[in-house]
Amino acid sequence: MVAKALFLGIDLGGTNTKVALVDKDGHVLERSVIPTRAMRKPEKVVEDIAQEGLELCRRFEERGFKVWAAGIGIPGLFDWESGVCHLLPNFPSKWKGVPLKEWLEEKLSLPVAVINDVRSITLAEKRFGAGRDVNSMVMVAIGTGIGGGVVVNGQLYIGKDGSAGELGHITVEPRGIRCGCGNRGCLEAYASGPAMVAQALRALVQQNDTLIRDLVGDDLSRVNPKVIAEAAQKGDSVALEIIENAGSYIGQALSCVCVVVNPEMIVVGGGVALVGELLFQSVRRGLAQRLFMIPVEKMHIVSAQLGIDAGVIGSATWAKERLEEGVIG
Ligand SMILES: [Zn+2]
Repeated sequence: MVAKALFLGIDLGGTNTKVALVDKDGHVLERSVIPTRAMRKPEKVVEDIAQEGLELCRRFEERGFKVWAAGIGIPGLFDWESGVCHLLPNFPSKWKGVPLKEWLEEKLSLPVAVINDVRSITLAEKRFGAGRDVNSMVMVAIGTGIGGGVVVNGQLYIGKDGSAGELGHITVEPRGIRCGCGNRGCLEAYASGPAMVAQALRALVQQNDTLIRDLVGDDLSRVNPKVIAEAAQKGDSVALEIIENAGSYIGQALSCVCVVVNPEMIVVGGGVALVGELLFQSVRRGLAQRLFMIPVEKMHIVSAQLGIDAGVIGSATWAKERLEEGVIG
């Protein structure tokens, strides 16, 4: 590969899609964000992404760079061999059967590799972020849903169908509430952003005395994990309990992953991770309550480092590595 080799990284989101040019060392040279407008037909969404990508490539190729491949991280399920979508749960239009890899390869005239969005973040954190010096790592991303990824022997482990790391769907309450996946009592139904908000709303409806009410000025639509964190930092007992519950469930689920993987490091990311140290403390307590085979105090539980660029860095890096392995191209 020439010195000025670049890779196009795409991070498809329900609201916005990020498109960026990334070098082999994970540096983002330029990024752009376009509205996904996910209610439209998949053809239109893919068309816009390709246009944006082509424009970025053109500008950099004029300056002597060469773009070798593109990677796209998607929030859903797909066939890892063919790059055909099965399900994008948060997209209103039908993506089942969409040959995403084929469409993008045609429009971009580049080899394309498809990856799940959280596996993409995991790969980015492993190569260039919090996990760059460890050999094994588990990532948990807490946001609207809960996703994850696993690194073993220095490599992203995706499993037979690419589902390794779906730790939002570990059962934490055997007879618990129904999850979107069909199971009962999944972690995601108890510790995701919406699950935390639902607990806060319940407390408000029950007229519990809580600072959350003052912070949102009685406008319940303004309750979000950030507001809950703010109330907790001021010592509000309702907010503290919500964070403690979420952290404890996350710790419980991580204890299952830890006995299988025995990772050197757990990386916590996603919007809800911005709640910060209070959440991390309860995750540690939850883990310590359940995990006796491995000394919890020796396990590094750290924040993700790459922030909002992680998705494009990971998908570009996935494309680079797939190209080097001869899987695409
Ligand atoms: Zn589930």
